[in-house]
Amino acid sequence: MSFAYPEPKLYIDGEWTAGSSGITRPVFDPATEEEIGRLPVAGAADLDKAVMAASRALPGWRSTPPLKRCDILMKAAALLRERIEEIAWLTTREQGQPIADSKVHILRGIEIIEWDAQEGRRLYGRIIPSEPGLRQMVVREPVGVVAAFAPWNAPVFTPCRKIASALAAGCTLVLKPAEETPASTLALVQTFIDAGVPPGVLNVVFGDPAAISEHLIAAPQVRLVTFTGSVPVGKHLAQLAAREMKPTIMELGGHAPVIICEDADVETAATRIAGTKFRNAGQACLSPTRLYAHRSVYDRFVDQFAALARKIPVGPGEAATTAMGPLANARRLAAVDELVTDAVQRGGRALAGGSRIGNTGYFYAPTVLVDVPEDARILNEEPFGPVAIIARYDDEAEVLARANALPYGLAGYVFTRSAARADKLAGALECGTVGINHLVVSTVGIPFGGVKESGHGREGGVEGIEGYTVSKTVTHLLQ
Ligand code: NAD
Repeated sequence: MSFAYPEPKLYIDGEWTAGSSGITRPVFDPATEEEIGRLPVAGAADLDKAVMAASRALPGWRSTPPLKRCDILMKAAALLRERIEEIAWLTTREQGQPIADSKVHILRGIEIIEWDAQEGRRLYGRIIPSEPGLRQMVVREPVGVVAAFAPWNAPVFTPCRKIASALAAGCTLVLKPAEETPASTLALVQTFIDAGVPPGVLNVVFGDPAAISEHLIAAPQVRLVTFTGSVPVGKHLAQLAAREMKPTIMELGGHAPVIICEDADVETAATRIAGTKFRNAGQACLSPTRLYAHRSVYDRFVDQFAALARKIPVGPGEAATTAMGPLANARRLAAVDELVTDAVQRGGRALAGGSRIGNTGYFYAPTVLVDVPEDARILNEEPFGPVAIIARYDDEAEVLARANALPYGLAGYVFTRSAARADKLAGALECGTVGINHLVVSTVGIPFGGVKESGHGREGGVEGIEGYTVSKTVTHLLQ
C-alpha cells in the first residue's frame, strides 16, 4: 500500500500556513536519501502568533468540562485508529522503521491518548481536615501554555504523550516536532483538529530548533517546557527555562544496562533483549545497550545473542520482510560508525555487524561488540543505534557499580529466576524504570522517565498528567 507524501505546513491558530520566513528545508527518505518534501521554517512572527493563539485559547479550553475534553480526545484516538495505515506509511517513509513497527508505535500512542482522556476526568484535589469553620482545599489547575519539543525516533508516539497529557489537563500548547519527520506528526495533529480541538489550543511550528526553543521558552505566556531528546540539548533547554523560572519535563537519553544473572533463562533473555535492541534500529532512549552477563552464562548468552543479531533482515521499512530499517538520518549513521570504529580500534571485537550496509540509504548492520574496554566512547556515550555491547561480570556488587557508573539513569533491566535477586537489583539500579525478565517498560498507564542526567518529570501514568498541572491551596474561613 502506498500513499502520497503531503506538503508539510505549520499549524497556527487553527490555520495551516507556510509561515512568514519564506525559507524551507528538505525532508529525506532515509532508505533512499531522496528528498521527499520541503518543510516551511517558522519565523519569529509565526512563533509569536502561535504563542498568542495558545494564550488566547487557554481560558476557553481550561474551562471546557473535563468530560467534553475527554470526548474530543477519545474521538482523536478513534480517528488515529482509522487512519493508521496511511500514518504508518508516512512514518516509515520519513523515519525508516518497518511499517509493522510504525503501526505498533501508533497503537501505543492511541492507548495513551485514550488513557489520558479518561484520566483527565480524575484530576482530583483533596480536602485537608482542619478546625471547625475552616476549609482547606488543594485543587489541581492546568499549568497554562506549554512549549513542547519532540524528536524524530517516534514521531507519532512521543507527540501523543505530550499532546494528550497537556490537553487532558486543560493546557494549550505550541509543539515543535522534529524537522526530519513532520508528516507523521502533522497527520496526528489533523486527528485532533478533526475531533474538535478548538483553534489555538494546539499549534505546531517547525524550523531552526535552537531559534524556536529560545523564542518559545522566553515568551512570558509559556508556563511549562517539555522536551524529549538528547542530554546536551535537554540541559541547554533546562537552563533557558531556569532563567525564566519555568518548570520542565525532561525525557532525555539513556545507556540502559541489562544484568543477565547466573540463574537467568539465557535463551529467553537473548530473544527478548535482541527483540527490543534492534527495534527502530536501536534509536530508542530505553534501548538495552550495555549487556552484563554473569561469567557462568556469558559464552552461551553471547553465542545466542550474536546469532540472533546476524539473522535480522535489514532493508527498506516498506518491504514486508524487513525487521530493521535504516538509521533515521545521516547524523546517526556517522555517529554510530564513529563509536563502533573507536571501540574496535581500542580492542573490541564485532561478533555481528560492525559496519554500514551498502552506500545508499543509512543502513547499518545489527552489531554485537565484545571485549570493549570500559573507556571506549561507546561504553560512555549513548549509542542510539543498532549496537549492543556484551561484557562479563563476576559478582553483584561489581556489576551494579558498572551499571550505575554512567551519568545516565533512564531504563535498566534484569534477567533472573530469583524474586529476591530481582528485588535487590531493581532497588539498587540507579534508573527511573526497571524491567525484570522483559523490556516492555514504556506502556500505557505507567510513568516513564529518568534520574540523573536522563532527566526529570514523568510521562504516562497519573504522574504524566499531573506534570501539566499546578496545585493551588485554598483555605477558606467560613463566615
Ligand atoms: P540532537 O540532540 O541535535 O537532537 C535531538 C532532538 O532535539 C531533535 O528532535 C532536534 O530537533 C531537537 N533539538 C536539537 N537542538 C534543539 C534546540 N536547541 N532546541 C529544541 N530542540 C532541539 O541530536 P540528533 O542527532 O537529532 O539526535 C541524536 C541524539 O538525540 C541521540 O544520541 C539521542 O541521545 C538523542 N535522542 C533522544 C531521544 C529520546 O527519545 N530520548 C529521541 C531522539 C534523539
